[in-house]
Amino acid sequence: MRKVRKGDLVKVIAGRDRGKVGEVLRVFPAEDRIMVKGVHMVKRHQRPTARQREGGIIEQEGKIHLSNVLLICPECDTPTRVGFALSPEGEKLRKCKQCGRTFP
Ligand SMILES: [Zn+2]
Repeated sequence: MRKVRKGDLVKVIAGRDRGKVGEVLRVFPAEDRIMVKGVHMVKRHQRPTARQREGGIIEQEGKIHLSNVLLICPECDTPTRVGFALSPEGEKLRKCKQCGRTFP
């Protein structure tokens, strides 16, 4: 189970976009990296394709390392490190280290 999932809100705590909050667009589990909406924008050269005849430079989210973000707890709305806990039913949950509450 991952600490950060697609659709989570995270706060960036390092790098050029420090302080920004955004939604996780993609997770790259093998690299421990994520893509966050509006964060770490990088310019890419786009080749012309059948759909888009003109190439050019587009700006796109780049990958950032998981260690550079904190999850925003959906329960207490605070940036936090994440732990894990088991529900009474034995289901694995994430746990906020700020408020102690659990969430999927
Ligand atoms: Zn919390």
